[in-house]
Amino acid sequence: MQRQPLVIANWKMNGSRLLTSQLAAALREQAALLNDVAVVVCPPAVLLPNWQQEVFYDAVHLGAQDANEHAAGAHTGEHSLQLLSEAGADYVLVGHSERRQYYGDSSARVQAKVDAVLAHAGQKLKVVLCVGEQEHERDNGETVKVIEGQLATALANVSAAQLAHVVIAYEPVWAIGTGKTASPQQAQEVHAFIRNWLQQQYAAAAETVPLLYGGSVKADSAPALFAETDIDGGLIGGASLEPDAFLAICRAA
Ligand code: PGA
Repeated sequence: MQRQPLVIANWKMNGSRLLTSQLAAALREQAALLNDVAVVVCPPAVLLPNWQQEVFYDAVHLGAQDANEHAAGAHTGEHSLQLLSEAGADYVLVGHSERRQYYGDSSARVQAKVDAVLAHAGQKLKVVLCVGEQEHERDNGETVKVIEGQLATALANVSAAQLAHVVIAYEPVWAIGTGKTASPQQAQEVHAFIRNWLQQQYAAAAETVPLLYGGSVKADSAPALFAETDIDGGLIGGASLEPDAFLAICRAA
């Protein structure tokens, strides 16, 4: 099956209003490219309204970097799916390794967030589930076991019909922000495993799920990664803060 290439910018706790106008302007000049590649930008939540003004009529979607699994209430500092959606988000990253490592997103919480995103307002939102092994896990030959465990927990309540609203990003933790990209072969191996696992669980519905690679993707490493059969695009951190680099990565997809 032909899946449309997808490239997602994850600004993390970076960016600014100025960079919003700069990257939006750079993307606006690439109308033709945006017909072929779906682009999603996940800025810090406070910049979503700025992005919404910039890209409202364009082929760029917005996403949130995280969301609280509760609908509303006493959760100081958190953002609900309703608020994020009103601010223009169509996608929500869930289970990013930085959330898992530093902000208490346990497997159970990741599962609750996936369920909340898919249950929100009649499946208006898509979830980008991030999975990835740590360096010692890869060294111990546990990569596949770790990825399988993360997928099985996070998707435990997800039906085949809901899978149409799921994107999976494979991000080896040792490659995130380190400049150490997984080789195209290493990434392809895990992507093939994920595709296979999805097929076993969901049969034909598995074919629609875009599988993205993330972890120090740069303009020069993107083409070889995206050329692999089971890599449908990328989740881009550092390089998404540089408009030229980000556009080069989108072109490579
Ligand atoms: P990086 O981040 O491209 O800076 O490694 C990727 C990510 O964490 O999503």
